[in-house]
Amino acid sequence: MNPAADIAHAIARIQAGQVTTDRLARLLAATDPAAVALLRQAAYRVKCSTVGRTVYFRALIEYSNVCAKNCLYCGIRAGNAEVARYTLSHDEVLERARWADAQGYGSLVIQSGERQDAAFVDTMTALVRAIRAETTLGITLSLGEQSESVYRAWFDAGAHRYLLRIETSNPELYRALHPADHRFAARRDCLDALRRIGYQVGTGVMIGLPGQTLRDLANDILFFRDQDIDMIGMGPYLPHAQTPLGAAGAPGAPLDLALNMIAVTRLVLPDINIAATTALQAITDDGRELGLLAGANIIMPNITDTRYRAAYQLYDNKPCLNETAAQCRGCLQARIERIGETIGFGRRGDSPRFARRLARPAAETTP
Ligand code: SAH
Ligand code: SF4
Repeated sequence: MNPAADIAHAIARIQAGQVTTDRLARLLAATDPAAVALLRQAAYRVKCSTVGRTVYFRALIEYSNVCAKNCLYCGIRAGNAEVARYTLSHDEVLERARWADAQGYGSLVIQSGERQDAAFVDTMTALVRAIRAETTLGITLSLGEQSESVYRAWFDAGAHRYLLRIETSNPELYRALHPADHRFAARRDCLDALRRIGYQVGTGVMIGLPGQTLRDLANDILFFRDQDIDMIGMGPYLPHAQTPLGAAGAPGAPLDLALNMIAVTRLVLPDINIAATTALQAITDDGRELGLLAGANIIMPNITDTRYRAAYQLYDNKPCLNETAAQCRGCLQARIERIGETIGFGRRGDSPRFARRLARPAAETTP
């Protein structure tokens, strides 16, 4: 079979519900241009008929680069002494939130290095409560691993989505990428707790990690399915020179693999939200638009004040370090309109899968 016919056959089998690791890995491996085009077009068709051609914004606030953890790949890991640490004030965050609300961004994501101390938890609870009181924004948190009671406190304060990447669903690979006290099982348990509480649950992986196989990535997609995940934020692994992994010289992920991963995830999980992440744009200027055309439907424009952006570098060559949030808005709108899509201004754009999950009888909600 020629490569395009082989891919067409695998897509048809997957859409008939015959989803296997081998078949997913075969799709992820596509490099022949005709085969890749076929894969992305099939995923785009699925996206158009499920979540549509409207892109939803999640205004991203990089709250703090103070982190207690030491993930071997991450530029703001605790062990990187060269980072100038910062934490935004309550008022700085609120000012950004009000701006996003006035722009009609619909939703906000607060992301940060991980801290579990009481001061951090209480400050965040107050912040979420204030944003809920003063804006109409949907609130997503991405603040790492916390206890169930902390997740509950933030939910009660008004957050309703949480993004916690599993990073890889292969526990061996997870172990190779983290110090011994960072545990895969603890991270997975957090996803369960978030679902129990009632959050829309987002996870994701890094694509193209050193030591990761195509079968690992295929199993990541099965993990998303089996964990009944509502939204995905995944992107290419990119090296940071001041990290153990980056210093070891492992190269970053190829763009095409990251786009294949988005496309295959859309085929398997037609009604979830999938973000076209900033890391795609770090590889190529129009990376996020290519992500949208491969099946993604969410973009997270960075609205953090430019004076903090350089200090929040998870990987080298982060794009738009000096572009203000207002400039970014105009640039993004033009880029999105250029590919024939529209922006869902003023709407939260919740994951349709979440609504269906809630509508299902309780016995079916946990796999
Ligand atoms: N501390 C929180 C949120 C900030 S990190 C947490 O870890 O969940 C957000 C994401 O950045 C991580 O989940 C990881 O997938 C990604 N990331 C970190 N270092 C990266 C790198 N070198 N390349 C690509 N993505 C990276
Ligand atoms: Fe901290 Fe998150 Fe980076 Fe890990 S990935 S070092 S938890 S900011």
